[in-house]
Amino acid sequence: MSRKLNFSAGPCAIPLEVLEEMQSNMSDYQGNGISLVEVSHRHKFYDDVHNEAISLFKELMNIPDNYSILFLGGGATLAFSMIPMNFLTPGKTADYVNSGTWAKKAIDDAKKIGKVNVVFDGKEGAYSSLPAVSELSASPDSAYFHFTSNETIGGIQWKEWPELGDIPVICDMSSDIMSREIDVSKFAMIYGGVQKNLGPAGAAFMIIRNDLLERSPDTLTAYLNYKIHADKGSMYNTPPVFTIWGVKLFLEWVKRNGGVPAMSALADKKSKMIYDLIDSGDFYRSPVDSAFRSTMNLVFRLPSEELEAKFVKEASANGMMFLKGHRSVGGCRASLYNGVPVSAVETLVDFMKDFSVKNG
Ligand code: PMP
Repeated sequence: MSRKLNFSAGPCAIPLEVLEEMQSNMSDYQGNGISLVEVSHRHKFYDDVHNEAISLFKELMNIPDNYSILFLGGGATLAFSMIPMNFLTPGKTADYVNSGTWAKKAIDDAKKIGKVNVVFDGKEGAYSSLPAVSELSASPDSAYFHFTSNETIGGIQWKEWPELGDIPVICDMSSDIMSREIDVSKFAMIYGGVQKNLGPAGAAFMIIRNDLLERSPDTLTAYLNYKIHADKGSMYNTPPVFTIWGVKLFLEWVKRNGGVPAMSALADKKSKMIYDLIDSGDFYRSPVDSAFRSTMNLVFRLPSEELEAKFVKEASANGMMFLKGHRSVGGCRASLYNGVPVSAVETLVDFMKDFSVKNG
């Protein structure tokens, strides 16, 4: 079988080893004559997978003991409303940075729940840059400070973290989780969809500091209450068992391959290969502030939209898939998540060089 090179923004590349492991255990889980996805989620088979996924998460990210880890349905999108429902206490203000499409969605949902203050709005600058962390401040009555570590569509990424004293910092890390080393203790909550760097689609992860969970109001219905999920070890209701199994196998792969430090070094290496090419001439152009270029979602433009369409088409014909930019911004985008091997990026760089020579 000849596999395509997958540059999709999500769901996206999963290491072949992980897919093959799922395939070989799909109908007969570890020789038990039954599939993992057809037994109760309370069965030992699944229980082991669930606990292992959580403990690998803790180990790989050095998560301190006073944090709970959840895997819930509804994606990061449901978290956009659950976060203010749980943590935006009455009379307080939630501070948000508007860095692009995903931050804006979080803001729009939070506004329906309570008072929101937008501390920085990147709209005027076409979301091509981010504020310096030293310029950031929160409202005097701030309930929490929310930002998006990597804008998957705009291709911008924070390089430093906001320091706001006692104000809980909440971060959507959907598209760069485990691609960089972070000090979890700087955050009150980190969350995101698993379908970029951690496994197949179908769940969102939440890392929540336990003191924040004390805010979850009893008036919330059960599923919307993070504290209930945490108290039940993320097993209040039937978890997305297939997805979490995939996450567990993906995290084992991350561990086998050197953990987050190795993923981080690879992310730097892979993205540098493409940014160096972009900067080496004037055929390709990066529309984002070079200080905040994403190592995960590399957006770039060609001299014309016609050439962009030709580029995407020819790349695809050569086995390099999903290089079209998001429909809202146009251009091209190569997503280089953890599951994308260096060899795929080498092939893409060669193709980009060749394309610029032929069409420049
Ligand atoms: N935040 C970011 C940064 C994203 O990239 C996405 C999905 N692309 C989301 C949130 C929404 O995630 P989901 O589709 O899992 O709800």
